[in-house]
Amino acid sequence: MTRRAIVVVLDGLRRDMVGPSTTPNLHAFAAHATSFAAHRSVFPSATRVATSCFATGCLPAAHGLQGNAVALMEHGQLVHHDVGHPDFMDHWRRVQGRTFAVPTLAERLARTGRNAMVFNNVSPGAARAHDPDGHGWVFNRAWSHAPGLRPLTGADAVPGVTLDTEGDARLTDYFLQRARHADLAVLWLGDPDHSQHEHPLGSPEAMAAITAADACFGRIRATVTPDTQLIACSDHGHQTVGEVVDINAEFAAAGLKLETDDPSLLAASNGTSALIYLHPDRAGDAHAVLDFLGAQPWAGVILAGDTLRAAGHAPEGGLLCAVSMRSEDHPNEYGIPGTSAAARPVVGKPDRLGCGQHGGLGAYEQMPFLQIEGAGFAPSATRNDPSSLIDLAPTILAHLGLPANGCEGRALQTLEA
Ligand SMILES: [Zn+2]
Repeated sequence: MTRRAIVVVLDGLRRDMVGPSTTPNLHAFAAHATSFAAHRSVFPSATRVATSCFATGCLPAAHGLQGNAVALMEHGQLVHHDVGHPDFMDHWRRVQGRTFAVPTLAERLARTGRNAMVFNNVSPGAARAHDPDGHGWVFNRAWSHAPGLRPLTGADAVPGVTLDTEGDARLTDYFLQRARHADLAVLWLGDPDHSQHEHPLGSPEAMAAITAADACFGRIRATVTPDTQLIACSDHGHQTVGEVVDINAEFAAAGLKLETDDPSLLAASNGTSALIYLHPDRAGDAHAVLDFLGAQPWAGVILAGDTLRAAGHAPEGGLLCAVSMRSEDHPNEYGIPGTSAAARPVVGKPDRLGCGQHGGLGAYEQMPFLQIEGAGFAPSATRNDPSSLIDLAPTILAHLGLPANGCEGRALQTLEA
């Protein structure tokens, strides 16, 4: 048998929400897999940057994508961008001459004549972050391509897929029909993330979305052949939004922005965190901005200089610092712990108070789950050693017998593979 790897991502599922009644398929899978009890997301714990770290096995300083929303230096000005937009990757390539600075799994596989297929029901920008330069196949309701970045439309794309529970089930159908011969096949579901943004954590709607996503995983698992490495995981958890803060308005009120839409100082919201950009011409104001942030009750952890580097970021392209918004342990109305302040986005709808969000360093948003079955992983085992999203690419490459040179993560196999 040819060795294959299958990854099923239940976007936004917290590790403490995996259990026999809510996720019966994952619960049953645990008897055959190794579970990782100390698994963490990256920073920001947001889907598009998490996807980039998954696809490259590297942190943002190495691959170059700093967040879900970023500012790019264009013609001497900082310009805000939503990375979820289907055209972001094309624009990014035009601005800096390339997309990621390091290869993706899709590219590494293509170099050796293998193929990667990604079925993704989150934002089109996140789908493209798996394979921005078109080395493999990507299927998303708003963007699909074949190798060579050849656009797929109509019946060749994934018609009828919507961003909801039914859409995830439909995308699972396409996965089962088309991914059978892919060396690496990824199914990245939109739920429970999507429903948790719309409803309180622990509410009947949010719990139903978890169970529906688990059922999609169960359908995939039933088809898995021997010699397959099967990874079930999430990219981040969620916290409850306790407060929404418009950081750009706060900067303006404090006189740090020269006018309301002054682009020389810019907060790019990443949910419960924000990336703060300051134009190099205003470098002399850096201390004033950092002092202001340090005095704000909504600012939890401020990452700058060495702590920003330790979080996997290079202070480049005008990135001054990042803020992980204040986070507390107290439970919501359904008894689900973890509340955070959220940063209001520059564009799009603001977060719903009382519903789920993520992006920061809070305990529960940094609590994704991870279970792996296959060579090198003991069944029914729990490991407590630290693991993170950047370890998945080296783990997949090790299973496929490919080198993981340049990856910052480590292969998680411990047993004789
Ligand atoms: Zn996500």
